[in-house]
Amino acid sequence: PVIKELNKKKIPIFSEIETALSFSKTKNIIMITGTNGKSTTTYLTWLMLNNYLKKKEGRAILCGNIGKPVSKEILKAKKNDWVVMEVSSYQLEDSTYIKPKVAAILNITPDHIEHHGDMDNYIKAKFKIFSRMDEKDFLIINEDDHYLKKLKNNKLKVLGFSTQKESDSFYKKGYIWIKNSNKKNKFKPAPLPGVHNIENQMASILMAISAGCDFKTIQKTLNDFRGLEHRIEFVREIRGVKYINDSKATNVDSTLIALRALGKKKNIWLILGGTHKNSPYTPLMPFIKKYVKEVLIIGEATPIIKKDLKGCAKLRDAKTIKNAIEIANRSAKKGDMVLLSPACASFDQFKNFEDRGKKFKKWVNEIE
Ligand code: ADP
Repeated sequence: PVIKELNKKKIPIFSEIETALSFSKTKNIIMITGTNGKSTTTYLTWLMLNNYLKKKEGRAILCGNIGKPVSKEILKAKKNDWVVMEVSSYQLEDSTYIKPKVAAILNITPDHIEHHGDMDNYIKAKFKIFSRMDEKDFLIINEDDHYLKKLKNNKLKVLGFSTQKESDSFYKKGYIWIKNSNKKNKFKPAPLPGVHNIENQMASILMAISAGCDFKTIQKTLNDFRGLEHRIEFVREIRGVKYINDSKATNVDSTLIALRALGKKKNIWLILGGTHKNSPYTPLMPFIKKYVKEVLIIGEATPIIKKDLKGCAKLRDAKTIKNAIEIANRSAKKGDMVLLSPACASFDQFKNFEDRGKKFKKWVNEIE
């Protein structure tokens, strides 16, 4: 109501990020947005730049939607440092005066429509990231994305990445390639599962290069990178059974991506459920049929999941994660995988997805 009233009276509103940035001593700003992959890509880009700047006695500052408010971090940045920010559509929609030197939009799929009203408004909010950028700045986009590929003809310097065709960065024969580069122009990716992780790495590489980072530091950073906690995170192997924590999969799309990334044969025990988020589970069916031995259902969403997934695999009412782990530990065979990728929010049984992931790991680590 307060915002609506201010809008009505035409009183300008400044977002937290642009207010904080107005105090910044550096103009070296990188911003990353997208529906999925923001935190992973932001963190990886920050690592690359920080490793690079360390050699010059500078640093990179990590902040934004990743859980470190810009207003808390920004005064740490000196003139030649770089600021690497994750920005959400919520943060962008009220930001008018932002001007990153390098920006990336990773992908756009329907999300947060209840907040933005419709898809057009959601896209409009995301596109504010580059509204003040000029021909000296770099915009990095996913060229395989339906909404983003149209930006290639923009007046900005637009760099594309693709896993499907030759672009400014592309994926071929197990390597990430950079086109039009006369230096060593391929990178060995970090050992993370799934095409989505290749895309995130291509975006990070293009951003790091645009910010002046050398190729050797980029490769060294990739060699050491093992992904973020709670995103398809390997926990432990017990008697030949692998346990994976993907607690960050709080929607159906993310679980689908995890099954696609990890699925090789029908050997997955999938722990699914929690607080239902109003979207159907039916898109998971083909992947469950192919890769899942048994679905262990937990939490409030149980009746809806049972109804949606009826007949596509063996469904078991496990009620809690702890119980699901016990069932899997008793029944899984050597070569199987136990995957917590709930496709639901966590609030019925946990504080948040971090709490859910940490407890899952604790219980897995307690198995004798
Ligand atoms: P965000 O900060 O945008 O929520 P994260 O890096 O935290 O993104 O990843 C959250 C989940 O989104 C991951 O567990 C994975 O399932 C999915 N994901 C990550 N990167 C991508 C991508 N590039 N495209 C689609 N899905 C992705």
